Amino acid sequence: METTLIILKPDAVQRGLMGRIIGRFEDKGLQVVGMKFMKIPQDLGQRHYEVHKGKPFYEGLLRYMTSSPVLVLALRGVSAVSITRKMMGATFGSNADPGTIRGDFGVSNSFNLVHGSDSPENAAKEVALWFGDGELVDWSRNTEGWIYDLTGEKPE
Ligand code: UDP
Ligand code: MG
Repeated sequence: METTLIILKPDAVQRGLMGRIIGRFEDKGLQVVGMKFMKIPQDLGQRHYEVHKGKPFYEGLLRYMTSSPVLVLALRGVSAVSITRKMMGATFGSNADPGTIRGDFGVSNSFNLVHGSDSPENAAKEVALWFGDGELVDWSRNTEGWIYDLTGEKPE
């Protein structure tokens, strides 16, 4: 199982899309194991987007992300990183495929509703950056055996 970091960005929160976006992840079968609603402190935003420091969009990205509250989620599942990235779609709504979150809910080449970790390594780092010890909740779903085939050695 992988745990990935998802952020519903300020535009998703302001536009009242939190429930619908979380609903898509729940519908897919991903398990919520962490959630927090916050206005991102400047230093946390900087650490999260460290890899983009120096790029032309970096300052604007930080302003956008810290301008208004976000909802931070930790989602768990087999291949959770690649599945959530596919569900998000291409970076901007203008060219994200219909059926994806960015493709269905946005048109902007700047505001794009959702962040998702892009590799299992980055997911582990980002989950540790946003959630402290004890803030993730390990819980078992009664539906697990219908979401995955659990009859073999590993969930399929
Ligand atoms: N971004 C932007 N302009 C760009 C590229 C990226 O505003 O030309 C923002 C956008 O919010 C994006 C974030 O920076 O989600 C991180 O960029 P990345 O290339 O990692 O895209 P993602 O992984 O989010 O699809
Ligand atoms: Mg990225």
